[in-house]
Amino acid sequence: MAARKCGRSACYLTKTAHLSGCGNMNYIILDMEWNQALSRAKTVRSPIVLNGEIIQIGAIKTDEDFELVDRFKINVRPKYYKKMNPYVEEITGISSLDLTCGETFPQAFRRFYEWCGNDFRFITWGFDDIGILSDNLKLHGLDDTFGRNYINLQLIYNRQTKAPQLQCSLSAAAEKLGIPIDVQVHDAANDAYLTYEVCKKLDMTLGIAEYSELASKISEPIFRDTVPKVKDCKKMLLDKRVTDIKCPACKQKLPFGEWLFTNGKNCRTITRCTCNEVYLVKLKAAFISEGNFTVVRSVYASTESEANIFSEKLRKRAEARERHKKNV
Ligand SMILES: [Zn+2]
Repeated sequence: MAARKCGRSACYLTKTAHLSGCGNMNYIILDMEWNQALSRAKTVRSPIVLNGEIIQIGAIKTDEDFELVDRFKINVRPKYYKKMNPYVEEITGISSLDLTCGETFPQAFRRFYEWCGNDFRFITWGFDDIGILSDNLKLHGLDDTFGRNYINLQLIYNRQTKAPQLQCSLSAAAEKLGIPIDVQVHDAANDAYLTYEVCKKLDMTLGIAEYSELASKISEPIFRDTVPKVKDCKKMLLDKRVTDIKCPACKQKLPFGEWLFTNGKNCRTITRCTCNEVYLVKLKAAFISEGNFTVVRSVYASTESEANIFSEKLRKRAEARERHKKNV
């Protein structure tokens, strides 16, 4: 389809899409395929541990009412895992020869980035895609926080269909919702479209409204990383490398108040960013050797009510301390 450029920078839309798609927030339903090392021993460990290298990006752009705006698909030529892992080849039907035809990740990502536009939110099936995207961005020295403020559709699906298990495949969900699958699954563009059809069967207005509550109930963080070589776990909050955490939504440095230690090595707090997103942040120090700890930092979506409960806990603790002082 012919694309034309609208007034806003980096906004290429098909002609019919142009009228409805500009100036508003879009949802981008994202699906990716990635290749893996041929064996565990061959897993790339530097510059990062690379569990999956992206070979295909598929996406559907919708408006705020989930009306289709545009589609996107691009094949990516991997830099590290150039030979198809047989398992991945079997499920995706992508061969090693196919891989040579794609664009490099930085080129492909640039095109995808421009296609996404300025105001959007990702929707993915499961947590894996955003993690893999973040790893691949890091691998190429690009901004790895891109798209972190995403929606995992699985959580909305689980809530609204009362599905018992957390992990359920996209095709199983589609089948349960009575969506016919007449295309090859594990093709990024087809899977993105299938995910879009799942959205259409769900109450997305409700799902998105209660999303942060859903996300805070499960143990998957929005962001997790590790800080190596922390000298003293009891003083980890004095180490700027530990407390310098960027908001997954707006990328500003998160403000921190008081932390609650559950033991000498673990602590947590709830913070509200200036962009109004609320997060639960957990720090866990692991002993490596004398004077050497690794701190795992996890950021979870949280809610206003949890923030209030947390403040209440801090207040009670302060009161208990006061009472203790008086009694001594
Ligand atoms: Zn923020």
